[in-house]
Amino acid sequence: MRIARFSIDGNVAFGAVEGSAPDELVLDIIKGIPFADFELSGTKVPLSKVRLLPPVLPNKVVAVGRNYAEHAAELGNEVPDAPITFFKPSTSVVGSGDPIAYPSFSQDVHHEAELAVVIGRMCREVPRERVKDVILGYTCANDVTARDVQQREKQWARAKGFDSACPLGPWIETDLDPSDLTIQCTVNGEQRQLGRTSQMVRSVEDLVVHISEAMTLLPGDVILTGTPAGVGPLNVGDEVAVTIEGIGTLTNKVIKRG
Ligand code: MG
Repeated sequence: MRIARFSIDGNVAFGAVEGSAPDELVLDIIKGIPFADFELSGTKVPLSKVRLLPPVLPNKVVAVGRNYAEHAAELGNEVPDAPITFFKPSTSVVGSGDPIAYPSFSQDVHHEAELAVVIGRMCREVPRERVKDVILGYTCANDVTARDVQQREKQWARAKGFDSACPLGPWIETDLDPSDLTIQCTVNGEQRQLGRTSQMVRSVEDLVVHISEAMTLLPGDVILTGTPAGVGPLNVGDEVAVTIEGIGTLTNKVIKRG
């Protein structure tokens, strides 16, 4: 099932996305929230009539750096012995169709296409065999990064945590094997990144085990799993799109911060 979060007439709701032709998609409004048992209401609205929101409002986004060997190498880094983890704040999250506002303190903002894991239930110290049970589904993410700031500042909070640095969407796919999916990024229609999730150094399972060893994960929390090779600059006016096989496309336009 594809679960979207959207606003219509000033109300926010979740809906199951039905249909396959991109301009004929319909949302069946969910009664309740997708983190508990829920029912479809049978009330349907065309996707074209709503504004898509980020599919979740995470309490925290935990991201993983250098999880694809070729990407680590392209920036002159080694694959680390232990995963590099960092936070992106909830205020960095935007949805598909929302703008990425170019921060005033950077001259080198990059796209990073990533598979995002959406946690479905509260959990800690998740054993490997239970990882599937704590995941609601998967969505596309762009770990937008001020590369110059990342290189200048020891911690990455500003470089990767500015407002709109974490586009998520367009929706959550709940029925998906994440182990070998095509992941792609285009800028103005031109391909920049192309990889497969099978190239991850640490798998989704590895990452959930590793992160939940340290902290409680809450429903709606998001784990970003790293980016394949091909990262590069974004400029004001660009349209950046992250597409993951079996999920869909997350599209954002880069604007000047107002
Ligand atoms: Mg990243």
